Amino acid sequence: ATPTSIMVGTGRAAELGILFRQGDALQGLQAVEVVALDKTGTLTEGRPELTDFRVAPEFEEQALLQLVASVEAQSEHPIAQAITRRALQEGLKLVTPDSFESITGQGVSAGIDGRHLLIGADRFLEREGVSLGELKAVGQGYAAEGKTPLYVAVDGQVAAVLSVADRVRPTTLAAITALHDMGLRVAMITGDNRVTAKAIASELGIDHVVAEVLPEGKLAAIEELRGQGRRIAFVGDGINDAPALAGADVGIAIGTGTDVAIEAADVVLMSGDLGGAVNAIEISRRTMRNIR
Ligand code: ADP
Ligand code: MG
Repeated sequence: ATPTSIMVGTGRAAELGILFRQGDALQGLQAVEVVALDKTGTLTEGRPELTDFRVAPEFEEQALLQLVASVEAQSEHPIAQAITRRALQEGLKLVTPDSFESITGQGVSAGIDGRHLLIGADRFLEREGVSLGELKAVGQGYAAEGKTPLYVAVDGQVAAVLSVADRVRPTTLAAITALHDMGLRVAMITGDNRVTAKAIASELGIDHVVAEVLPEGKLAAIEELRGQGRRIAFVGDGINDAPALAGADVGIAIGTGTDVAIEAADVVLMSGDLGGAVNAIEISRRTMRNIR
């Protein structure tokens, strides 16, 4: 690689808002065969809205929403913000829980108003011994529509299922089509529900889905794809994407994402959309062709 061609490529990238934090990433990108993508905040806007709330007959909707939102006000997860935003819009007053614990990639647990609440993924509540009963199928219906179902248990009894939905970014579909046209395989790696992930993947034509993984699981998924001898770029935005960004052949961070993700990445997309990843790979290919 001649220093001049690298400089030209890096400069061209900068004009498009693509920042190469590592010099060798410009060379590494042209060899990539698989582009793996985080879902929430990368394929989607990362600002989910509360879309459904189904309460078990023994519970009262507004009272339960108040408790759930009060607990979620302690969490910084975008799902939590969607719930508290809705409660505040409905004029509910939030109270401070007596205890609160966040379980990464699973949900939250809290003591509030003399009761114990669990809020999170089906697998999380079931692991805690909660039987989801008829609400499980309701949540699976939400998931089939590409929404993320969350279950609520009060003192070990299932009390509600709610769902949040996040808009796919307007530029995502075109970017995935462009990656396919460049001969690349496209994968999704997400902590979200498997049914939800598959619904969104099929809408976008994504080839391979790894779902319901913890942050270390994202890295393990990358390593498994690499073990098959493929060179991988991973695109992500969150704290939970940092291990995968560091472990991929080329880590690409969404510039509007968290600092932790940006620090772990080789390339940063300042515009915050996936079209930047397409441009970065194109520039890399062109730059390396000029050299040889
Ligand atoms: P993603 O890869 O989509 O960013 P995460 O790893 O952050 O997902 O979370 C995975 C799953 O854990 C969520 O889909 C949700 O079911 C559950 N979860 C995480 N945080 C919370 C929270 N604060 N409240 C409820 N559920 C949560
Ligand atoms: Mg994310």
